[in-house]
Amino acid sequence: MTATARVKDGLLDFLQTAFRLFPWPTEPGLRKIGRPDASSPVLLTGNFDLTVRRLVKALEGRDAWLLVAPSGGINVWCASSGGHLSTHQVVTALKTSGIADQVSHRQVILPQLAATGVLALDVFRRSRWQVRFGPVDLRDLPEYLETREKTDAMRRVTFPLRDRLQMALMWAAPTALVIGALALWLAPGWTLPCIALVAAMSASVFTLYDRLGVRRREILLTTSIALALAATWSADGGAAALTAAVVAPAFLSALLTLDYAGSTPLEGGSHFEERSWHIALDEAACEGVFRCFEVCPEACFERDDAGRKAILAHDERCIRCGACVVQCPKDALFLESDAGERIPPDTIRRFKLNLLGKRKIVAPGAPGANRAAGR
Ligand code: SF4
Ligand code: SF4
Repeated sequence: MTATARVKDGLLDFLQTAFRLFPWPTEPGLRKIGRPDASSPVLLTGNFDLTVRRLVKALEGRDAWLLVAPSGGINVWCASSGGHLSTHQVVTALKTSGIADQVSHRQVILPQLAATGVLALDVFRRSRWQVRFGPVDLRDLPEYLETREKTDAMRRVTFPLRDRLQMALMWAAPTALVIGALALWLAPGWTLPCIALVAAMSASVFTLYDRLGVRRREILLTTSIALALAATWSADGGAAALTAAVVAPAFLSALLTLDYAGSTPLEGGSHFEERSWHIALDEAACEGVFRCFEVCPEACFERDDAGRKAILAHDERCIRCGACVVQCPKDALFLESDAGERIPPDTIRRFKLNLLGKRKIVAPGAPGANRAAGR
């Protein structure tokens, strides 16, 4: 790659990261990486341009087939959680892309984070292709392709500083544009301070979010109000300062109360109703297929290979993403309330695999259950 191409690529990376709240689609279809042949691995991902470009980069120097399935131009986790990258899209891509004529095997590797929306068993029933869920981070793909084994680190979602800052950028960029334009109109001198305030708030939310304990929302909101009032006072009032005083806490409270499902590994389902539900394992039903172990992004499970059983060793880490429930072929996993009420796997599967824009899972018999189930 030439220096100019590298600069263009870096700029595109920055823009796509900053505006990843919006879809950024690339052409779906079958692509060649290197010089793949009949025995080369087949990988499938959604058609979010940033993901596809990063995937191609991660596989530089290797030979593989890359199947880009339509996911609405949205990243894998959001698309799978939101019903845009589903079993249907995967089966359709496998059947219509011509990949079956190119390879002699029938194994396709999907990103692990697609496991909430793509039912591996159904893909096999409908296409005869076997799904393997690869590593969470595509930078681990080269090693995974060598060993075909996922280490614990490859299975677990982390939220390192680099990802936190990318998330901060993603929230700050569109907001800074709007607030910057407002400030430019009302008081041009306040444009840069307003943008800096938004950037600082986003960065502090995503770096401190999970480190402030249960009072995090109150702490961050109070701090931002204090900062905004201090800015107003130091500027002797004025329209722009007052705007900052109102807009800053409003922006921060929006950041803190939004449903981040599908956008950070810190939050699973809705902030509210699903909080009282926890993951549970029916040991008698478990037959040690270990799909749960393969797809859990929080490494909640351990394997008892001798007893052919999964052990729910770290249920306190669970973010209720539903991936294990969706993929368990024995219906051994479900959600349970503190009062012992259960949401059966089928109900969870129906919502996770075909959300139709709904995120809340309602227990059978609970008020609104029939409406939420679309019956
Ligand atoms: S809980 Fe389900 S997926 Fe996990 S090991 Fe048991 S049978 Fe397999
Ligand atoms: S145990 Fe929790 S975090 Fe892990 S896959 Fe299941 S629902 Fe998701």
